[in-house]
Amino acid sequence: MRKKTVRDVDVAGKRVLVRVDYNVPLEPETGRVLDDKRIRATLPTLLYLRDQGAKLILCSHLGRPKGKREPSLSLWHVAERLSELLGEPVKTTGCCCGPVVQEMAHTLEAGEVLLLENLRYHAEEEANDAEYAKALASLAEVYVNDAFGAAHRAHASTEGVTRYLPSVAGLLMEKELEFLGRVMQDPEHPYAAIIGGAKISGKMAVLESLLERVDKLLIGGGMANTFLKAEGFNVAESLVEDDFLDQARRVMERAREKRVVLLLPTDVIVADRFAADAQAKRVSVKSVPDGWRIMDVGETTLDVFAKALEGCKTVVWNGPMGVIEFGPFAHGSHRLAAVVANLAGATTVLGGGETAAVVEQLGIAERFSHLSTGGGASLEFLEGRELPGVAALEEA
Ligand code: ADP
Ligand code: MG
Repeated sequence: MRKKTVRDVDVAGKRVLVRVDYNVPLEPETGRVLDDKRIRATLPTLLYLRDQGAKLILCSHLGRPKGKREPSLSLWHVAERLSELLGEPVKTTGCCCGPVVQEMAHTLEAGEVLLLENLRYHAEEEANDAEYAKALASLAEVYVNDAFGAAHRAHASTEGVTRYLPSVAGLLMEKELEFLGRVMQDPEHPYAAIIGGAKISGKMAVLESLLERVDKLLIGGGMANTFLKAEGFNVAESLVEDDFLDQARRVMERAREKRVVLLLPTDVIVADRFAADAQAKRVSVKSVPDGWRIMDVGETTLDVFAKALEGCKTVVWNGPMGVIEFGPFAHGSHRLAAVVANLAGATTVLGGGETAAVVEQLGIAERFSHLSTGGGASLEFLEGRELPGVAALEEA
């Protein structure tokens, strides 16, 4: 079921309200944009609309101002960065609705860009208030959602507004839906999922959903500890979620039923404390010493994982293999990133903030088919849930 995109509607000379995800990190003292990845990710849509002669009215949330005007969460610095990237001035407003904003929106020229102030300065945004949604809609003639990262929330700017305007996907949203849709509905086999990260609790539903689709499930990172413990291994001081031992057992049981190859680490890097300069050594999962903790997967595990990925046509990866914040324990994630990047002819999809950060730091991001820009949204999508902000867009 394909969604209409900006390419399916006539936007020439029209006022187009574009929901973007400019929830970017700012430097506390200066407000300077520290990472403009999310801003750059919207450029294809913005340039397309500008080329078509649309008048652009952009809106986003930033942080959690909780319905109050919080100056440190103003989109003003984002507008500055965006105008540098677009090579022309971006107009800003002190608010996102009201007569002044109406006037500014209605007097835009073709190709001009206006960025509304933080949507969450009004509590009505997260409450999906109908009047607020109507006020946003009244600024424009067409609505475009390019904020995949916010699409799992039914807010006024992602869901409410679609009741009052023709509503289509932007090009970034289209790419997210294409790749995430492919790994959910129409994956080429063999298909492997790699799941890591800190905890099992936030990713149980994803594990269960992917288990029904994949041929191989590779588990690493902190969450593997709970599986190892469920298998009877001593994981000593490692991060473990005892409440999830039964669920981990159920996943392993389901994998056996479905004949899904489920791989856990067989060797691990352990540390004597949780620190970058901790004493570290490689041990078998059968002999994690008391008082030590698992920080990364070991070389033998990586060899086995690499072998399992060989020849796979679809790979989904969410969550690092170890404590990537500490240099010595980032090796497993780095080596795995290189392995996945080198898979020839495979569709490779990465989700999760930290996982994407790993391959960006390595400078190999463009060697993956798709890096999802939405952490929570991509997890919910992979769980098989319908995202309200996507459901609300018109079907092609
Ligand atoms: P993503 O953002 O890609 O979805 P997560 O947020 O689930 O990933 O997990 C990332 C976190 O997992 C990192 O902060 C990393 O330190 C942590 N992590 C990975 N392996 C371990 C481990 N063995 N012990 C403790 N934390 C771990
Ligand atoms: Mg994370």
